[in-house]
Amino acid sequence: MSKKSTRVDFACKALRQAIIEQALPPGTKLPEDELGARFGMSRTLVRAALAQLQSEGLVDAPPRRTATTAKPTLEQAKEVFEVRRTLEREVVRLVILRWRAEFGAELEGHVRQEDAARKGGDERVSIRLAGEFHTKLGALSGNALLARYLGEVVSRTSLILALYGRPHSADCAVSEHREIVAALRGRDATAAIALMDHHLGSVEHRAMLDQGRDGQFDLGAVLSRYVDDNATSPKVAPLPRRKKRASK
Ligand SMILES: [Zn+2]
Repeated sequence: MSKKSTRVDFACKALRQAIIEQALPPGTKLPEDELGARFGMSRTLVRAALAQLQSEGLVDAPPRRTATTAKPTLEQAKEVFEVRRTLEREVVRLVILRWRAEFGAELEGHVRQEDAARKGGDERVSIRLAGEFHTKLGALSGNALLARYLGEVVSRTSLILALYGRPHSADCAVSEHREIVAALRGRDATAAIALMDHHLGSVEHRAMLDQGRDGQFDLGAVLSRYVDDNATSPKVAPLPRRKKRASK
């Protein structure tokens, strides 16, 4: 991987994480010069990162205007949930077909982490782990393309929750995740799909409760936290660990 694409990936990862964890509310302006200064990148590279995030539905980057975090309409939000339901049903079906005992241990370990984060009151980690339960299932489906599409709609769901849901609502009930794992363990596809449908219905219901909110916050403070987190802190590195770079 070239140095440039590593930088773009790093900025994408930090921004994606900040958006998914609802630290950057929908509609937040993302000025190229500020991002460039924060990530130590040229404007060209900043634009490449923003284009990548736009392709994932997380950023709006219209030509000749300041990019913002995406602000999906209610109609678009409903479309995301429709696609998500369809994908997750197929994920459940495939995971059961490929089921191995290790899957159960892995998923139960994840649910325990979710539970601990929830009890510890760590909102950022709770929101991230809730999404990762679903992307983990996507990975266990054994279909890389399905996993990628699911990852994208799960990220978009976080944005929708930030826009329409309760402030910092973590999108998933841990008890529902536990029930899904039990049904998967029993290799009961009908029950597991019904539980997943019900679970996503509750998430959608929570997501659509409130009107959008306008958050008051400091872009620079949020960005510096995510730059630092991604550079140094192992606890917020949900994606495969990249090689340590001599970063400033
Ligand atoms: Zn969930």
